[in-house]
Amino acid sequence: MRKQIFIWLAVSLALAACSFWGEPTDATPTPGSETAVSPITPSATPTFPAAEITPAATGTAVPTATRTPTPLPPDLAITAEDVAIYPGPILYAGEKVSFIIKPFVPEPVIAEDVSVHLFLDGREVEQSSLSGRTLTADPIAVFAWAWPAAAGPHTVEIQLDRDDQIQAGDEDETNNRLSLAINVLTADSQPPLEQNAAWITTELSCCRVHVVNGTAAFRDLPDLLTVVETAVQQAVNKLHEPPERPLEIYFIDRIIGQGGYAGSEMVVSYLDRDYVGNELTQVITHEAIHLLDRQFAPQRIAFLAEGVAVWASDGHYWPQDLDRDNAALADAGEFVPLATLADDFYTHQHEIGYLEAAGFVNYLIELRGWNRFRLFYADVSDEDADTPAAALDLNLQQYYNRTLAQMEADWLAYLEDEPYRQTAVDEIETRLVYFETMRAYQQQYDPPAYFRTAWLPSPNAVREEGNPADLNRHPQDALNVTLEVMLATAITDLRDGRLR
Ligand SMILES: [Zn+2]
Repeated sequence: MRKQIFIWLAVSLALAACSFWGEPTDATPTPGSETAVSPITPSATPTFPAAEITPAATGTAVPTATRTPTPLPPDLAITAEDVAIYPGPILYAGEKVSFIIKPFVPEPVIAEDVSVHLFLDGREVEQSSLSGRTLTADPIAVFAWAWPAAAGPHTVEIQLDRDDQIQAGDEDETNNRLSLAINVLTADSQPPLEQNAAWITTELSCCRVHVVNGTAAFRDLPDLLTVVETAVQQAVNKLHEPPERPLEIYFIDRIIGQGGYAGSEMVVSYLDRDYVGNELTQVITHEAIHLLDRQFAPQRIAFLAEGVAVWASDGHYWPQDLDRDNAALADAGEFVPLATLADDFYTHQHEIGYLEAAGFVNYLIELRGWNRFRLFYADVSDEDADTPAAALDLNLQQYYNRTLAQMEADWLAYLEDEPYRQTAVDEIETRLVYFETMRAYQQQYDPPAYFRTAWLPSPNAVREEGNPADLNRHPQDALNVTLEVMLATAITDLRDGRLR
C-alpha cells in the first residue's frame, strides 16, 4: 500500500492550520464572507477513535473532536470547542439552526442538573439541561432547529448553570459562559442546487428511499434502488427476519463517521469523493441488520450488534474472510481481549472492534447454529449484569455452557489453525493505518464527519423539521477536495489488494 501517501497525509494534517471554525466574539466577523459556523477547534493530535454508529435514535448528537485539557481543579466549564452549529460550515438566511453543546463536566457534577441557556443577539432562545448522551456517554445539550437564521453577523451566547445551583465542581463561575460570533450569508448567495434542495422519496416493497435532489444519489437513483433491494434481501435472509414495516433509508451527500448509521431509520453516505471505500451492498446490508434485529433483539449490546451486522454483510466495508483476518489480527499483536472490547465497545479502535466482534459471532454461529445464537443474542442486555462483558459471560454460560474466558480461549485456539498468508497481516495493519489517517482528516478538517463530533439526528426528524443541509452540506475547500481525493485513491488501492 502507499505508505508514503499516509506519511504525506499525516504531515499535511499536522502542518496545515485549520481556519474554518467560528471565533469568539472578540474577533471581528466579516459580513458577507463565508464565515464558518461550527466553532469546534480540531486537535492536531488525532486520538484513537472507535465507533461506528449506532446512533441516537432520539435525535441527539455527538460533538467535540477532542476534549480540552481538564481544568485544574476540575470545574464545570465551556469553551468554543464545545459547541457545534448546524448546518455547517456555512449558514444561509432562512435555515433552521441547531446547536450541540458538550461542555466539560467534572466528576462531582450530575449532568442532568446542569441547566443550559442559549441566547441569540442577547435574546434567550431556549433552555435545556445536559440530559443527552453521545455514543461514548458524554453529556450534551441539543437545541435542534432552535433559531431561524437571519442574514448578517450575530452573537451566540451559552450559559451553564445560570442560577448557580451547582456548587461542588463549579467553583469558578466565570468559565460557565461563552460568546461566539457567527455570520449568516444571504439566501441568494446559496449555490442554486442547494437553494432548491428537497427530499425526494421513492417507495419500494421493502423500503422508503429518500434522497435530496441535485446529489449523487439523486443522479444514480435507479441503480441505487436495485442495490437497496438486493442488500435488504440479504439482511432479511441472514436474520430470517422480514421487516415489519418498510425500512426508511436516507442517502446523504457527505461522509458521516464510517459512512452510515442507523437508529430507527438508516443513513448511508453516497457521494462521488467517497474516502471510506464502502461497498454499497455491504453498508446497506449492515445498516439494514441494525433495523431488522431491533424487531427481536431490541436490547442487544453494541459488541454483538456490530458483530452481527458485519457477519451478516460478509465483511466490514467490503467482503472479508472473518476467520483469516482475525487470525492475522492476532498474529499482528493487535488482538483486544473480548471482555475489554465488550465494555465501552465504541471507545476501542474501530476496525479491530468490529472485526473481532464479527469473528466471534461467526464462531458462535458455526458452533451451534443460527437459531441458538438468535436466542442468545436476543437475551443479552446491559440490564443482565454490571457491565456488558459480565452480561456476555452470564449468557454464554446459559446458552453455550462456557464462560466468556473459556469461549475466547476456544476461539483463539481455533484461529491458530486458520491458514493465512503474510499479505493478510499486511492488509490488516495497513487497514488500521488507513482508517486512523482518515479519522485524523475528519477530526482536523471536517469535525462533523468524525463520529465523536458528528450530529446523528433521526433523519425522519431532519426531513420533517430541519434542513436538507443538516445531513448533506460539507466542506468543499480546495484543501478538503485534495485530501479527500488522495484518501479515496488510497482506500481504493487497499480494497483492491494493491498493497505495494
Ligand atoms: Zn453498525
